[in-house]
Amino acid sequence: MQRLVIAFGGNAMLQAKQKGTAEEQRANIHTACMAVADLVEAGNQVIVTHGNGPQVGAVLLQNELAKAEVPPMPLDVCGAATQGQIGYMIQQSLTNILAERAIPKPVVSLVTQVLVDENDAAFRYPTKPIGSFYTAEEAARFSADLGWVMREDKARGGWRRVVPSPDPIRIVERSAVRSLLAGEALVITAGGGGIPVVERAGKLHGVEAVIDKDLASERLACDVEADTLMILTDVPEVAINFNTPEQVNLRGLALAEAKRYYGEGHFKPGSMGPKVLAAIRFIEDGGKRSIITSLGLAGQAVRGLAGTIITP
Ligand code: ADP
Ligand code: MG
Repeated sequence: MQRLVIAFGGNAMLQAKQKGTAEEQRANIHTACMAVADLVEAGNQVIVTHGNGPQVGAVLLQNELAKAEVPPMPLDVCGAATQGQIGYMIQQSLTNILAERAIPKPVVSLVTQVLVDENDAAFRYPTKPIGSFYTAEEAARFSADLGWVMREDKARGGWRRVVPSPDPIRIVERSAVRSLLAGEALVITAGGGGIPVVERAGKLHGVEAVIDKDLASERLACDVEADTLMILTDVPEVAINFNTPEQVNLRGLALAEAKRYYGEGHFKPGSMGPKVLAAIRFIEDGGKRSIITSLGLAGQAVRGLAGTIITP
């Protein structure tokens, strides 16, 4: 039996051009959960994590549009809301699929906090764009009234709020996750990278930040002593010279090579960059294998037959 942490990208739940209706999300999640069920059926113990970019964007927009009637919630609370909604859909879908296959297994999604350091440089240099696009006037108003840091996205013609993206230190609920695993549960946890919290005088407090879900998944994989960290996105392999005539897709990759390519800047920040960084960190932290591939290739990749596979 292998223990696998599987991180679903935003695409597994919502494809570009989709509007994000509940039906669309359910259908995408069903496809992703079929892949998870295949891995469970093959005898693996699976822990699921997921992104929440489009969903938290929608919650923030709802806040924005309804603020005259309903008090807007801070970002940590919005993150928790998306863990609940996405976790619920995954949990229900997996429960139904496992029942169809007569695999008796409790499925549970866990609201998960992730500890970050208040002195992380990310808090001084926010980089992660979230929520809607605004005009320059609106942006000036939000920064004056709400203290938001706003940045112009010239390519897409608008201003967006940017928030810090600190490094995850530890999954607060890690011992609860381990207990659930000991009880043979299929656990969905650390959704959206987890709710970022800081510790002050021994107490946890939510903060206005977003943790990268691939880096949080790596922490989780260490905390549960997973054999494999598997990051599922929408490309079959990681590439060097991506999107150029010299593009080369990578299959087997030793840690040192992965680090060299990472250092040479082959992987875009905010998309492939954090995935490769998470894959590297997992091996450096003692993990056996990191895989980056597409949803459809998950089963083959676990057997070593597809995807980019990074090993010591
Ligand atoms: P997710 O939503 O699954 O987390 P992202 O969209 O953030 O995924 O990142 C995956 C995307 O990264 C791919 O669709 C691809 O367009 C892009 N990408 C950037 N650099 C590379 C690279 N070097 N190799 C492969 N894909 C890359
Ligand atoms: Mg994406």
